[in-house]
Formats: sequence, structure tokens, C-alpha cells
Amino acid sequence: MTPVIIAHGGAWHWDDQLDEPKRQAVKEAARIGQSVLNESGTALDAVEQTVIALENHPVLDAGTGGYLNASGQVQLDAMIADGTTLSFGAVAGVTRLHNPVSVARAIMEQTAHHFFVGTGAEAMAASLGFDLIDNAVLVTPAMRVFAAQHEQASGHDTVGAVAIDVNGHCAAATSTSGSANKPEGRVGDSPLFGSGGYAENGVGAIGATGLGEQIMRLLLSRQAADLIRQGCSAQEAAAQAMAIAARRFDTPRCGLIIVDHNGRVGMAHTTPKMAVAWCHDKGPVQSRVRLTND
Ligand code: ASP
Repeated sequence: MTPVIIAHGGAWHWDDQLDEPKRQAVKEAARIGQSVLNESGTALDAVEQTVIALENHPVLDAGTGGYLNASGQVQLDAMIADGTTLSFGAVAGVTRLHNPVSVARAIMEQTAHHFFVGTGAEAMAASLGFDLIDNAVLVTPAMRVFAAQHEQASGHDTVGAVAIDVNGHCAAATSTSGSANKPEGRVGDSPLFGSGGYAENGVGAIGATGLGEQIMRLLLSRQAADLIRQGCSAQEAAAQAMAIAARRFDTPRCGLIIVDHNGRVGMAHTTPKMAVAWCHDKGPVQSRVRLTND
């Protein structure tokens, strides 16, 4: 099987001057995932390492550089899905974790549970050996300025990755600060298995981004998986899932990245922009900020 990685840096609209930094950020992250896959790493390793790079990049709105919530904190959600075991781990509403995607993975692999929230998630992370950080570490000057200038902002952005490895194993990971100025405690689709992401060997791996209040009502990632099961390619499934969103909502705000069980790549969005990067095997990493209708 030819390994494939796709990374995204959110689907929404943003100032044009951010296009190039976001494109570069997803490209660098996809390159990290590519090297994991080419050194015989698993799809799970690849999506985790890719999402760590995305979380750490201050220009993307997950982890460091995330949006501030209405209480002035970066409040994070993340999920990782393993298509081999049809399992997932997730955290939501956390403020003291540097890389929530890794905690999600540890929860999946080292506990009898799948999903922890808030201070319970942080306590579990500490017991699993993760450092608890001060929330201020995640707050960048740019996001402080953004929050001050956009008190009513409703932007949202997630990062994510999907991969298939040389053995045909699939995995997906998501991480987000959710929506800008969200009320404390608000959680979107990103940590929800079947909504924000899904992975199943023999089907594919799917990652969603966009307005969680829409995506979670549609179980969007699982719907895309079902479309692949019915015979769609990754791209057909992504496009049809967007059509489902467009039928349900007057202003659909959704995006998907998909790698199917054949290693085919799919991506689609109803938002003005989506930053994506992808590559097959040792091939060049392609990257772009897609515009609607691209
Ligand atoms: N889906 C995320 C949320 O609603 C945000 C995003 O993907 O842009 O929390």
C-alpha cells in the first residue's frame, strides 16, 4: 500500500496575508507525517506527529495560538481515531495541555476509557505523565490582539490529519481551540468520534473542520465513511458530504479531508478557504489554500 498523509489547517475565512503562512504550516506538518510513514511508522504515529506540529504552529488556531474563549483562555479539544481497532481517544475543554492530541492517544491506549473533559482530563493527563502547563503558554500576542479587536468574532479553526500506512491501516486526528470567543465549556465536533473524525481500516480516514454546531448534527465524518462504503471514492465522498450539509443548512460551514482505503485523496469545503497539504509515498508535498469551488 502506498502511504498517504493529508493535513489541514482549518476551513473558514481569514485575511489573505495569512494564506502563505498557513500553507507553509500545513506543508511542514504534512512533511513530518510523510517522514513518519516513510520510516515505517504507523498511520496513527503519522497523524499524531502531524497534528503535534500543527498544534505547535502559532499561525494555526489549535494548541499554541488558539483562539481565546469568552473568558480569555485557550480552551482545547482533540481526538485521535485508530482505524485498526475502531477506537478513539479524546479530550475536551482542556486549558492546561500543550499537545492535547497526544493525551487523546494515551487515553485511547492506556486507559479503559475514551473521552475525558476539563479538569478530569487534565488530572488523567498528569497521571499518564504529561506536564500541566499554564494556559498563558498557549496564548500568542497575535491572538490577544485578535480577541481585543474582534469582541464579537465568530471565527473557528481546527487542525487535523488523516493517513493510511504501508499496511493499509488508517488513522485520523483533530485538534482545535473551537470558535473564537466561545462561551466557556462550549465543545464542537472535533473531539467527537464520527463527527469530527473517523477511521476504519478497509474504509478510510476522515477529518472534519468547520462549524461544529453543524458538523456534529450531521455526524459528518461517519456519513463520509458510509459514502465510501457505498462505493464512492474519497473525493466523491467529500463532495457528497458537502452536498448533504448544503441541503441541511442555509449557510453550510463545513470541510473534510479524506483518504480512502485505496489511498485516494479527497477534500472539499463549503467555507471560503481551507488550508491543506498532502502527499503520496515519497512524492512531493502538495499544499494550497483552497478557495470555495476549487
Ligand atoms: N470544528 C471546530 C469546532 O467547531 C472548529 C473548526 O473546525 O474550525 O470546534
